[in-house]
Amino acid sequence: AQPLLIVRDLKKHFPVRSSPLDRERKFVHAVDGVNFSVPKGKTLGIVGESGCGKSTTARLVARLMPADAGELIFDGEGVEEFRGLRLKEFRRNLQMVFQDSFASLNPRLTIAETIAYGPRVHGIARADHQARELLDRVGLDPSHFAGRYPHELSGGQRQRVNIARALAFDPRLVILDEAVAALDKSVQAQVLNLLQELKAERQLTYLFISHDLHVVHYLSDYVMVMYLGQVIESGPVERIYGHPAHPYTRALLSAVPSMDPEHRTQASPLAGDPPNPINPPSGCRFRDRCPHAHAVCASATPALRDMGRHSEHLAACHLNDPASGHPEAHQEQRP
Ligand code: SF4
Ligand code: MG
Repeated sequence: AQPLLIVRDLKKHFPVRSSPLDRERKFVHAVDGVNFSVPKGKTLGIVGESGCGKSTTARLVARLMPADAGELIFDGEGVEEFRGLRLKEFRRNLQMVFQDSFASLNPRLTIAETIAYGPRVHGIARADHQARELLDRVGLDPSHFAGRYPHELSGGQRQRVNIARALAFDPRLVILDEAVAALDKSVQAQVLNLLQELKAERQLTYLFISHDLHVVHYLSDYVMVMYLGQVIESGPVERIYGHPAHPYTRALLSAVPSMDPEHRTQASPLAGDPPNPINPPSGCRFRDRCPHAHAVCASATPALRDMGRHSEHLAACHLNDPASGHPEAHQEQRP
């Protein structure tokens, strides 16, 4: 499938101060040269520990904040060029659902008003009728829920309203940032199934950000692993979960019970916290925590490399580069 979204060399840094008296301006490179694409009708899962840049990446893509550098291409066109109606259309086509289902709902609007609000200001006719249809679609009986207020709903019901509200714009790309994280397991399963159905029905494309590797496995076609603002591995979901090539991905997967039986025995669990993002280590940013770190890992930054025959599988680790000079490097591309 053609990519719906292409992201090229996306960068964002934030100024930070260690104390109010600190005169020196320091920066966190929250997103530091991120590249990826998402095919139409597919889901890209983005994983990594908190602070790795997942949410910032999502917000940059949604243009909720400006990037320092980089290019966004939406359905073949540069988003930077969008003005006026084109920009409005792009904003309609891209909807976000966040974790906190309460904060994103106006407490003074009924559920039906909330869902109809967006389409109405965007000039979509029949907004009220459509709101009732969407409520039905997300499993909330409109005759029971349409006139209610957010505080009268459970967290799971509110998150369904948020999804209905996003769908009311008839978007093409939906960014879900920890959108099911706060829900209990059975409600979470219902919402995940709903997302899968809607994806198939409407050819929706998802960017799915989550710290839950089970959920990412269930929903995603592709997975991208981030560490300290950079992509360190990406590829088709079964490939990444079955044959992770980066020690960080292996450590993440090994920490999840019942996941990755093949590699769990080979990987050491993740030790320590990510290093200070203001002063990331030279070379490979994972080296302080990597059981395979070697001198070359401090002196040279590993590039994202194609893992061979599985051409969509990329990883950034010297172990996977026969020419890196790492003594444990695989001398051939692994099958
Ligand atoms: Fe570990 Fe070196 Fe690979 Fe980084 S490049 S993940 S430190 S082996
Ligand atoms: Mg986050």
